[in-house]
Amino acid sequence: MKLNELFLKGDVDRIMAFPPNKNYKDEWIWAYSKNGKYNVKSGSWLVAQPIVYQELLPVETSRQNNLKSKIWEVDTMPKIKMFMWRVLSGALAVAECLRAHGMQAIQICQICKNGNESVVHVLVECDMAKQVWLNVKIPLPQQGVAKTTADYMEYFLGLMGKATIPGKYKRAIPWLLWGIWKQRNAKMYAGNGGDADIIIAQALEEAEEWKRVNSLEMVTEVQRVSGFGLENKWPPTCVLKCNINSSWVNSSRMCGGSWIVRDHRGEVKFHARDAFLPAQNRIVAELRCLLWVMQSLLDLRILDVEIWSESGAALEALNNPRDWPRFRSYLDRFYKLKLHFHQLKLTQSSSKANVVARKIASSVTMEARLHSYLATGGPTWLSSIIHQESRS
Ligand SMILES: [Zn+2]
Repeated sequence: MKLNELFLKGDVDRIMAFPPNKNYKDEWIWAYSKNGKYNVKSGSWLVAQPIVYQELLPVETSRQNNLKSKIWEVDTMPKIKMFMWRVLSGALAVAECLRAHGMQAIQICQICKNGNESVVHVLVECDMAKQVWLNVKIPLPQQGVAKTTADYMEYFLGLMGKATIPGKYKRAIPWLLWGIWKQRNAKMYAGNGGDADIIIAQALEEAEEWKRVNSLEMVTEVQRVSGFGLENKWPPTCVLKCNINSSWVNSSRMCGGSWIVRDHRGEVKFHARDAFLPAQNRIVAELRCLLWVMQSLLDLRILDVEIWSESGAALEALNNPRDWPRFRSYLDRFYKLKLHFHQLKLTQSSSKANVVARKIASSVTMEARLHSYLATGGPTWLSSIIHQESRS
């Protein structure tokens, strides 16, 4: 395999655990959270680490922190959120920031030669930026009211929620900021670009595309079942219920999975067990298990089904794929497979209600039963539990 030629064994395992999805462009994700999305807790943790990144961050004020957390809520692409975060952190390679870090840089803006090149200058005050904001009729704050980058970011974030700004312009604000910055770079380093109308056209198009793609995302209805004991367990007559479970051992990364399909009376139709390649964590194990289950169900032409999983995190990821970029390739495969079903409902199971599936799955990791199988009916060693459940 190509990967083995290029990477060390341990790294190959890491890459295979989160296989890249070729349908998407590369993008930045946050390395310090479980799902790959920034959260304040992991951010604070990182800032508290004694590493060099800390030096790049200017002194934080609570207002800035507040603004930064708002940036992660903005409805835009992760790379643009990251850009906005860098804007606010003074981490853009403009003359003022470079000089603040002791680097040589010409202070005057090389595009308009009409002021010092600061973040605010590039994004708001420079001729090119002013033209963009003027053409989309987005008013800038009166002179003297906003001064710092934080003032402007607060102002733009406020505009995005403002009813008086037409929707398509409001939505495009993050792309406009990003477009102005890209054009500034094109002009500085390649000597071209700088046309306000091109920036606007691209920003509007990308913002609309983002909206279109993300509204297409099918939101799977996840039903949460709280409490234990008597749940409304059995599905209607034409639907089968499939309990799934993945068993994962932290020390060895070993994982196994199982599923068991029952009808409206609790009678077992099939069950199956399999051992999987080592998984990096429990969520990966559950998602892999789910994909294997879906493929098995499709092979058996079981197209009307409720899948019950205990993994709240996996269901959360399936429900909000945009918030879980780290798992995107698994989530994408889920949505592709889902298209083949007539009806597929995901439900969170209590651990008590999932006991049969869990016992089968843990036989893979606890008893090292590594051969896989698919069988009609249920496993005999669990028949008394299955019988009991069918009566409740
Ligand atoms: Zn300028």
